[in-house]
Amino acid sequence: MFADLHLHTLYSDGTYSPEELVAAAQQLQFQTLAVTDHDTVEGCAPTAEICARLGIEFITGTELTAEFNGQEVHILAYFLDITNPKLLQALARFQIVRQNRIREMVARLNRLSIPLDAELVFALANCRSPGRPHVGRALVQAGYCADLDEAFERFLKKHRPAWVPKFKISALDSIELIHGAGGLAIMAHPGLNHYDDAIPELVEAGMDGLECFHTKHSPEACEHYLRLARDHRLLVTGGSDCHGWSKGRPTIGSVRLAPEYVERLKARSRDIKAKANGPLCPGETLLCSPSRRS
Ligand code: AMP
Ligand code: FE
Ligand code: FE
Ligand code: ZN
Repeated sequence: MFADLHLHTLYSDGTYSPEELVAAAQQLQFQTLAVTDHDTVEGCAPTAEICARLGIEFITGTELTAEFNGQEVHILAYFLDITNPKLLQALARFQIVRQNRIREMVARLNRLSIPLDAELVFALANCRSPGRPHVGRALVQAGYCADLDEAFERFLKKHRPAWVPKFKISALDSIELIHGAGGLAIMAHPGLNHYDDAIPELVEAGMDGLECFHTKHSPEACEHYLRLARDHRLLVTGGSDCHGWSKGRPTIGSVRLAPEYVERLKARSRDIKAKANGPLCPGETLLCSPSRRS
């Protein structure tokens, strides 16, 4: 009865379609899934539909690229109303920024005598929220790099020649945006950001939780963030951050979040929605309730 609350699909930089993602999750006997594609919620409805057919619980989500005092932080959102107009407007803006950034990265590659075509990257990405991994895959496909790691190391990593800084929403605004769409705001993979100093101020601003369990967190990092979550009375989440086959083998299965954490998230989400709209039926916070397994 475990959960994976950090999953990417081909609606951002993952390689799994919703069908492939749910099939992988089903094989590992996950009971609850959340799709958290970068700056988009487009993968939620198709994944929710498949989950509903199979009796798997689905939670809507996204992973916003934000910044706090000049440093990048990723903010996960859960239980979002994915029809919220302000949320959709903001996501559309982030996606345009991402698309313009791809053009700029390709222009820089062109100046390095790599004649990559931006349209080729967009065709390969085939989504509204393209990112550096798509440029990397295009470089590999065209034979300029042996693999994605080489593409990042030579060109795409921060301060490498084709890297382009990206406008990011402020972390404080991202929390407001998420709460406005009825969601919970969680700091993603804090152990990768090395930015614990940001946590008290973000908690002050209403951040709801920490992703304590993550594929790349050591057992010590997990313990550390569980302690911080307890000290700040924060919710605890976890997930594999699986991108399908994008970075080697799929990582789904590497994190199995215990059901009590999901129950606490659901309870908080219900409280928030009850306060905003008056009493709701249990289960109404989900995009769709799971149907029974046949
Ligand atoms: P972007 O949002 O366009 O800045 O791209 C960031 C994404 O690139 C991350 O979410 C990762 O999925 C991916 N990424 C970062 N570093 C690497 C790397 N060294 N190799 C492969 N993928 C990477
Ligand atoms: Fe990613
Ligand atoms: Fe992230
Ligand atoms: Zn992620």
